[in-house]
Amino acid sequence: MTPTQAAAPGGLSVAMADLPFRIDESALIPLEDGQAVSAGWPESIGGRPLGVTWHWTVTWDLELCRRLLGGRNAERRGEASAHYGIGRGYDEGVDRYVTLENRSWHAGLNQTLRWDGRPLGSPDYKGSRSTIGVETVNIGYATADDMVGDDWIETATPDGKPIRVQPWTGEQVAMMISIGREIVERWPHIGPDDHHGHHDLCPGYKVDVSGFPFARVLRGIYPDRAIDDVWTPTCTVTQRQTALAELGYDLGPTGVDGQWGPRSGAALKRFQTERGLVANGYWSTFVSRRLAAVFAERGMELAEASS
Ligand SMILES: [Zn+2]
Repeated sequence: MTPTQAAAPGGLSVAMADLPFRIDESALIPLEDGQAVSAGWPESIGGRPLGVTWHWTVTWDLELCRRLLGGRNAERRGEASAHYGIGRGYDEGVDRYVTLENRSWHAGLNQTLRWDGRPLGSPDYKGSRSTIGVETVNIGYATADDMVGDDWIETATPDGKPIRVQPWTGEQVAMMISIGREIVERWPHIGPDDHHGHHDLCPGYKVDVSGFPFARVLRGIYPDRAIDDVWTPTCTVTQRQTALAELGYDLGPTGVDGQWGPRSGAALKRFQTERGLVANGYWSTFVSRRLAAVFAERGMELAEASS
């Protein structure tokens, strides 16, 4: 029998970590034809989700995210959704659009890699069929100079374009940790390496969530596990080039110059080929993890090798 999207009694559930925010279930999407929710997880992948895909909303608030994705009459009804929408602060709280028993439509379009960085292969590995989608309210990268605050995150897209990204707030990080714990409590096989950004699955098509505080969030979700921060040391083009040059990859006559050109792309592809990754020339969480492992074999920290 098809499970329904049952809301918690009273329509609200209280977050686990005693934080002063609530998970609002009033915008839960009905499990009906034409809505952006599908029942259950494919048997071909074990009848359970395999990972967590983090997104940014490109909105300033949760209200607009809810109007686009949540409830019966979402503007993107039948096109896109997510399991959660996480607001900027405790006052906005968290929306639940799809329960953890069902699938949300949050990735799949132009997806080339699956949750573990391998080629997509079967469509059952699309994000919308195999991972939990979490939207975080964030306007994304600055499209005008006057948007940028001093604390905006300096990073680069998977194809090496420098961008400045709105920082996630402390309260938001705390809520992301709380939601991550709820996910792992329900699906304990999901480990730190099963988390990634939308841009990791769809490089060249999506840039969310470049600059995401993965280490802070994962260290909160899995407090008893040693989690290496592979993201911060590979945030910028200069760091990425420095790490590749440290391993002896040829970046061309200009060397480490903070400009990601075809020679840098070719060096990255060689690294990917030699290390058994998909050689697509796009920077990803999978590349950063592999790079950290390679430096670890040499007794070096990634942070040291990329600076
Ligand atoms: Zn996304």
